[in-house]
Amino acid sequence: MSFLKEISIKTSEHTQMVDITAQVAAAVRESGVQDGLCVVFSDHTTAAVTINENADPDVQRDFIKEINKIVPWDDGYHHREGNSAAHLKASMTGASETVIISGGKLHLGIWQGIYFLEYDGPRNRHVSVKVIAG
Ligand code: ZN
Repeated sequence: MSFLKEISIKTSEHTQMVDITAQVAAAVRESGVQDGLCVVFSDHTTAAVTINENADPDVQRDFIKEINKIVPWDDGYHHREGNSAAHLKASMTGASETVIISGGKLHLGIWQGIYFLEYDGPRNRHVSVKVIAG
């Protein structure tokens, strides 16, 4: 058995971490799957998905500050669209995460949340949530 759900995300900042844990958990509930895997996938080339701390918002602030330092927006890139930094950051952090489903719930650590990473916003975005029983 498998289930696919699309989650819409409207980002408001140029670089932003959006906590989508509740929407992913809702998709898992809607699937009815008790045990299996959940894949959260972004089909954008300038955004990503990651899992990180959801307790202290300063972690998100530090993440954005440091990734912008590692990959500056302007650095003599060749890509004419002008958003090479966003493409680089998207590949560095990755397009998807896989989470185990146990007892109908996401098997996340107590301090973990699932984040959509916007690197070239604000934009209307979406991620796909695929739930597979097994
Ligand atoms: Zn581009």
